[in-house]
Amino acid sequence: MIGVLALQGNFDAHIKVIKKLNLDYRLVNKSKDLDCLDGLVFPGGESTTISKLFKKNDNLIDGIKDFSNYKPILGTCAGIILMSKQANDERVYNFGFLDVIMQRNAYGRQVHSFEGNISVNYLDSSKDTKALFIRAPKIKEIGKDVEVFATYKNEVIGVKQGMHVGVTCHPELLNETLIHSICFNKK
Ligand code: GLN
Repeated sequence: MIGVLALQGNFDAHIKVIKKLNLDYRLVNKSKDLDCLDGLVFPGGESTTISKLFKKNDNLIDGIKDFSNYKPILGTCAGIILMSKQANDERVYNFGFLDVIMQRNAYGRQVHSFEGNISVNYLDSSKDTKALFIRAPKIKEIGKDVEVFATYKNEVIGVKQGMHVGVTCHPELLNETLIHSICFNKK
């Protein structure tokens, strides 16, 4: 069963993708919701708003930190910002699961949103998938233990560190399952 963090943001689209992979899901609002999950999604939304809600819930922060030692976490868009070690914005809470530095809203405003074909290279195979970039961040710096696994027009837009995965875009909004299947090891 995969948890979907439901503090704020677009968790419905992730639920659809999780179901499409024949996995069960549970919404996560408090640390007890993490019990017995096999993985967790940090959805997109507004990273500053999600951070505010996290800061009111130390238990959930501690629960997720502990969970991250055993189970994979996937972050999309605002999700990768929260998973990063830094986003150059003091309002953002950084879990530091991914040794990357992010720049928020790096492609411009909502009207500059776009759909792109992204290339995913994983375990010696190369596949394309589609995703939406909505007020997307960019990955500015990448630590040495971080694996680049997805690019868009030669720019790094997806990284993996240990079991954890982050992408700057939204494959789930186009009902694409590839990124989730890699993170949660489900075909
Ligand atoms: N711009 C948002 C942020 O910085 C992310 C947008 C999204 O998740 N689609 O948090």
